[in-house]
Amino acid sequence: MAKRAVASDSAVAPVDDKAPVVRSLSALRTAENGCRRCPLYRNATQAVPGEGPRRAKVMLVGEQPGDKEDLAGKPFVGPAGRVLDQALADAGIPRSETFVTNAVKHFKFEPRGKRRLHKKPNAYEIERCHWWLEQERAIVQPELIVALGATAARSLIGRVVTITKLRGEALSLETGTRLLVTIHPSALLRMQEEAEKRAAYAAFVRDLKIAAKLVFKRAA
Ligand code: SF4
Repeated sequence: MAKRAVASDSAVAPVDDKAPVVRSLSALRTAENGCRRCPLYRNATQAVPGEGPRRAKVMLVGEQPGDKEDLAGKPFVGPAGRVLDQALADAGIPRSETFVTNAVKHFKFEPRGKRRLHKKPNAYEIERCHWWLEQERAIVQPELIVALGATAARSLIGRVVTITKLRGEALSLETGTRLLVTIHPSALLRMQEEAEKRAAYAAFVRDLKIAAKLVFKRAA
């Protein structure tokens, strides 16, 4: 399958002498909790670091932790995580063989009564947190990164991209790491029509099957 290079120079995080370089996954939580690179640390419960085997072949990158993830300190443990788990299973990819993380490590939200409503991270926050994503990439060295949604794709590619134009295609980043772009599983949760939801879920699994084929040589 042909690979298209998509990264721009801005995908490379700027050097920041004040932020520590982390060399192990165990040190990530502490380091990210101490991060002050953008204002999102102020209202979140804690940073949510990536999770999975140190040498996972596949890294899945979402947008940011949600309400449940913020409280648990773990990525993709809420409703979108359940959709992701099911889709991975249907695509033949054990989640235990993947490293799961987010483009932004602190939960951004708007208080609404007792609820905390998700707010999309802005360009500045995505760019500032790219530092941590790069450190995770350096530690895990995945063969393939799956960008789940526009924020992850923007962080990895370094510019705004249209998911529908890139999804399901074998791409490559500046380091040669393969990249596959697909939707964020939370998009399925927002759909009202059952038929629309079923079709979108099938397309999501199709994309993940391409990832399985690329890395595990499993048939799509
Ligand atoms: S969201 Fe990322 S860059 Fe911003 S404070 Fe948290 S860890 Fe640091």
